[in-house]
Amino acid sequence: MHLSRYPRHFLAHLPTPLERLDRLSRELGGPEIWIKRDDCTGLSTGGNKTRKLEFLMAEADLRGADLVMTQGATQSNHARQTAAFAAKMGMACHLLLEDRTSSNNANYNHNGNVLLDHMHGATTEKRPGGTDMHAEMESVAERFRTEGRNVYTIPGGGSNPTGALGYVNCAFEMLAQFNDRALKVDHIVHATGSAGTQAGLITGLKAMNARIPLLGIGVRAPRLKQEENVYNLARATAEKLGCPDVVAREDVVANTDYVGDGYGIPTEGGLEAIGMFAELEAVLLDPVYSAKGAAGLIDLVRKGHFKKGERVVFLHTGGAVALFGYDSAFDFADRWTG
Ligand SMILES: *Cc1c(COP(=O)(O)O)cnc(C)c1O
Repeated sequence: MHLSRYPRHFLAHLPTPLERLDRLSRELGGPEIWIKRDDCTGLSTGGNKTRKLEFLMAEADLRGADLVMTQGATQSNHARQTAAFAAKMGMACHLLLEDRTSSNNANYNHNGNVLLDHMHGATTEKRPGGTDMHAEMESVAERFRTEGRNVYTIPGGGSNPTGALGYVNCAFEMLAQFNDRALKVDHIVHATGSAGTQAGLITGLKAMNARIPLLGIGVRAPRLKQEENVYNLARATAEKLGCPDVVAREDVVANTDYVGDGYGIPTEGGLEAIGMFAELEAVLLDPVYSAKGAAGLIDLVRKGHFKKGERVVFLHTGGAVALFGYDSAFDFADRWTG
């Protein structure tokens, strides 16, 4: 498997650090917990979409695009990283933002990722929750095309086989770090949404015969739907790489017990995870993705699913800038106090 065959614009700060979380591990009294810092990919406060965009934006460039479009929720980290990547490449960027939470909070609608979208020069349009955002983006793209623009559209979350290559590469990067440090890793855990991260990781792990179970903690869809989405994308990614059968359906495992009331709506467990990571490890999680992923990790340690003597790596997918859009979610009196 040779990723240099695919066009790529190197922009992320790689490899991201792999660190041991001693204070969190001690507090929970279970496995040794490590963190892979993909919140530190370096582009406009970082996050997991930067790895995908290295491949997607190179493809946009090759096709001669002068305008890149994508879509996501109001506080989309993917939209913000796309706006930043486009700025760096001198490409225009237009974002469609879906109001999935119906929040009229000023910070939610204008601060955090939205502030940075505009700071990077992107233009934005809003759509009501429940809009078919993919169809909507294609119709807006057509409008730009009739005006003579060469538009490159990126699906939500950058999750297609091209974007997923970024996480095939992350699997290789992690395995190299584990091998260099002689770390025997028993589990990798991360938040899963539009599926590209998990699909790329499982493809890379399977192609390397790593035999490390991967668990995606869902933030939106029910379990079977999430697993199907990941599996289908993993198959398409593996096919692109010339090894179509490398991922089996049972390799794709999601746990969607930590979604709470819905996408983008903070949960008790997520807020507790934000407090624990911030106070014990000085690591910032975000309420939409990484906090729900961490809430799943913490709960599964407490339930004995991840055990003493094991080593678990939590892949931090970023998103902390959304904290500034969610400040109203934090009632400090109720938070975790160790
Ligand atoms: C997009 C995102 C995820 C989920 O990654 P997918 O590839 O969409 O499944 C997780 N965490 C953060 C912070 C994200 O922005």
